[in-house]
Amino acid sequence: MAFRNFKMIGYVIYGRGSFNQLDEILAPNRKDGKPMIFLVDHFFEGKPLVNRIPLRGNDKVIFADVTYEPKTTYVDKLANDLKEEFGTVSGMIGIGGGSTMDLAKAVSLMMNNPGSSADYQGWDLVKKPGVYKAGIPTLSGTGAEVSRTTVLTGPTKKLGMNSDFTPFDQIVLDPELTKDAPANQRFYTGMDCYIHCIESLEGTYLNEFSKSYGEKALQLCRDVYVNKDGWDEESDDKLMMASYAGGMSIAYSQVGVAHAVSYGLSYLLGTKHGIGNCIVMNHLEEYYPAGVKEFKYMVEKNNIDIPVGICKGLSDEDFEKMINVSMGMKPLWENALGKDWEKIMTREKLRALYDRL
Ligand code: NAD
Ligand code: ZN
Repeated sequence: MAFRNFKMIGYVIYGRGSFNQLDEILAPNRKDGKPMIFLVDHFFEGKPLVNRIPLRGNDKVIFADVTYEPKTTYVDKLANDLKEEFGTVSGMIGIGGGSTMDLAKAVSLMMNNPGSSADYQGWDLVKKPGVYKAGIPTLSGTGAEVSRTTVLTGPTKKLGMNSDFTPFDQIVLDPELTKDAPANQRFYTGMDCYIHCIESLEGTYLNEFSKSYGEKALQLCRDVYVNKDGWDEESDDKLMMASYAGGMSIAYSQVGVAHAVSYGLSYLLGTKHGIGNCIVMNHLEEYYPAGVKEFKYMVEKNNIDIPVGICKGLSDEDFEKMINVSMGMKPLWENALGKDWEKIMTREKLRALYDRL
């Protein structure tokens, strides 16, 4: 048996107000006159956070349009524009939710690798390190701050640039940055973490490493969504650590059924990751009975709307497309259902599941 030897992020700073140390953190990573590029979630345009960005010299702020989840065409455009304007840059700093962090990782890689980001969708296809990159989450849950992938929708697939060069060199975990997230969005992204934990802890790839992080992340999710009424600073602090630990848990295991099915939705319908996972999780009693029961309790307790009926009126061809994308996520199915997963999750069974969504 070969054990996974995985690359982790470089530096981590955690704490309320730690964003204020960004200038000193970046200083040693600035390269002779080349700018730091701050890729900032467009939600923050015109907000006070922008004035706290430590701009020096020819540094540049770019607002990331995350109306849609990251596409390879967008990554290529951002990287090509930067190459044209500056040749190279000192670093990419992603400030935002999972989408913005993934964009920053991908653009960093594309500054030093030829071709299109679509050429690198897969496992270990990236050959050269990117430029210095830092991730600063403003939503908690995806684990994108610690992961070795950057999920992109390309011309033919929705798949990450999964490589040892993908993890951030630095992350800044400042829970204060998540305080203005709307309750529904915060819940959908937070549930991404909860679902990572259930899929990891119930999966066949589980080992003690994944379990240690997964159990802690699950407990933190329960603290904020089950055991507490209302939302406060402590909730933001806890959910940020849940996201980190949940990401560490799947680093050494894998996600499962909710993610495999939700990828099909997002490929065909553009359904966003967090809400898509919630839509699917709502119907997975057969696979994760205890997790789904608790999930439903959290939805109700926190007064969240989970859309239903999103596959109504789709054609057979549409369903086929979703089934193909979903069935392509082999490691996820294998983790969820074991080596013989194809005998358990047939195309017919998956079709019936999509029909219910
Ligand atoms: P997101 O980044 O797509 O953002 C969702 C919305 O929240 C956007 O409208 C954004 O502008 C807004 N927003 C962000 N921060 C805010 C704040 N502090 N206050 C108010 N609004 C704010 O959402 P997400 O759920 O964090 O990320 C989902 C993305 O992450 C997907 O693209 C998914 O593929 C990716 N993802 C990546 C990994 C990975 O390992 N790389 C893992 C899971 C998900
Ligand atoms: Zn996820």
